[in-house]
Amino acid sequence: MAEEISGKNFIEQIIDQDLKEGKVTKVVTRFPPEPNGYLHIGHAKSILLNYGLAKEYGGQFNLRFDDTNPTKEKTEFVQSILDDVKWLGADFEDRLFFASDYFEQMYEAAVFLIRKGKAFVCDLSADEIREYRGTLTEPGKNSPYRDRSIEENLRLFEGMKNGEFPDGSKVLRAKIDMSSPNINMRDPVIYRVAHMTHHNTGDKWCIYPMYDFAHPIEDAIEGVTHSICTLEFEDHRPLYDWVVRELEYENPPKQIEFAKLYLTNVITGKRYIKQLVEEGIVDGWDDPRLVSIAALRRRGFTPSAIRKFMELVGISKSQSSVDYAMLEYCVRDDLKLSAKRYMAVVDPVRLVIDNYPEGQVEYLDVENNQENEALGSRKVAFSKHLYIEREDFMEVPPKKYFRLFPDNEVRLKNAYFVKCVGYEKDDSGNVTVVHCTYDPETKSGSGFEGRKVKGTIHWVSEESAIDAEVRLYENIVDEEKGKLNEDGSLNLNPNSLVVMKNCKLEQAFADANPGEAFQFLRNGFFCVDSKDSTKERPVFNRIVSLKSSYKPGN
Ligand code: ATP
Ligand code: MG
Repeated sequence: MAEEISGKNFIEQIIDQDLKEGKVTKVVTRFPPEPNGYLHIGHAKSILLNYGLAKEYGGQFNLRFDDTNPTKEKTEFVQSILDDVKWLGADFEDRLFFASDYFEQMYEAAVFLIRKGKAFVCDLSADEIREYRGTLTEPGKNSPYRDRSIEENLRLFEGMKNGEFPDGSKVLRAKIDMSSPNINMRDPVIYRVAHMTHHNTGDKWCIYPMYDFAHPIEDAIEGVTHSICTLEFEDHRPLYDWVVRELEYENPPKQIEFAKLYLTNVITGKRYIKQLVEEGIVDGWDDPRLVSIAALRRRGFTPSAIRKFMELVGISKSQSSVDYAMLEYCVRDDLKLSAKRYMAVVDPVRLVIDNYPEGQVEYLDVENNQENEALGSRKVAFSKHLYIEREDFMEVPPKKYFRLFPDNEVRLKNAYFVKCVGYEKDDSGNVTVVHCTYDPETKSGSGFEGRKVKGTIHWVSEESAIDAEVRLYENIVDEEKGKLNEDGSLNLNPNSLVVMKNCKLEQAFADANPGEAFQFLRNGFFCVDSKDSTKERPVFNRIVSLKSSYKPGN
């Protein structure tokens, strides 16, 4: 939960102070994804935080691909990240940058450090470097190459750049302090030799900068004032500060850390998602049960619901998990007034009104959202043959069941009272048809006050019904029993996806667009699946059911 319920969060307080002291005149933030996977809900927090601060302070927000590591990055991810950031509404306009465009400046920066006597070329192997580094309780030992002359270092570093040395044979290290209590400060490696093709710079470079060296330079080049990252970088901050200080930037950026967002009941780890995708347990990175931004979009979550959720969660310095139900609460709240409410029968059984004329069709005038007049109204066909939800009829009802059962009367939503007069079953005992009679006096809107019924059920007229597939989603892992089994495998919820293939929708759904969200009356919020739905064969995803136990403030 937010540490500051009212007033400003700790990052805003830092910015206010910097502005007051004149350290900063224009706030510049950035979101720096590594293009090595799809963005998830945690990244959305970082995007909206950085974008929100820039906007709040009339500053600037940059999107920068942190693509300095040629091994793991793929151009495929660049496009998906661009789509996701735009969809969230974080406008970076023309301020799209690639860290790999700064390789030349990074090289120059390294040379600058060598000339200052602040960096040296080291021939120790990776294992030896680790050995020399010491531990949390023991100081490290100086590398035997630490005292090379500036000239030798310049020559060797140039040789590294020119491809004279094989991978792993030499690195460039910052010369800081092998006895520092902070291991990150023990002469960290800042450049390595790697003969690899980079997606942007091709084979131009065979040396690549390490993250801790590259990132502060990227920030400084772009004039970023507040470089916001997550808590795992806290111990790296002294190195960040060392880099910008030794490189003598005039207005050095400042690193600020906040706690990552974790959600209950969902999987965010790339390793697990990859496993789910590869094993075919989910339908790709945008499977609606995942919380990649692409999946949330496909599931029907809206950018405004995600923004509201991030506001509720707030910014904090201490790690905690947020209840997934809170995200659901936000999407429900967002769609309540904005989504049209139509009738859809997910698990249909036929209902016949015995005393209604065969072939007659009435068109009922129905508001699209009783709480939002602006959404207008529509005509809904009513006839002798309808579908109702299987669970809205019972042969032998339990106590407090107010829906249809023999001799009971209910209201058909927006239409008439009907009374159950019989039913038919197939050989295996399943109810196939429910028979009713209707009372013409009881039409909705007619002001009928003769008697009351306790139940109202929804329905769809058989003649004009649209066939559809509806996918009912639940959390992919069972949090109550633990996300992981004892053997470390994921504890999957076997009901995370239930496909209903025989659903019946009212005619108004014919105009639904891919991604559009609706309330299925009495059931939940659903959206048209943007991947699999066609006009001939509509597919809907359940975004969220109507009710929840979550209340804000819980
Ligand atoms: P992951 O390992 O979860 O995919 P990452 O840190 O490797 O995430 P990056 O592309 O390096 O992904 O991260 C881009 C930005 O997003 C970083 O500033 C990072 O701190 C931030 N970020 C990543 N995960 C979260 C999270 N769960 N909550 C908030 N911010 C996050
Ligand atoms: Mg990362």
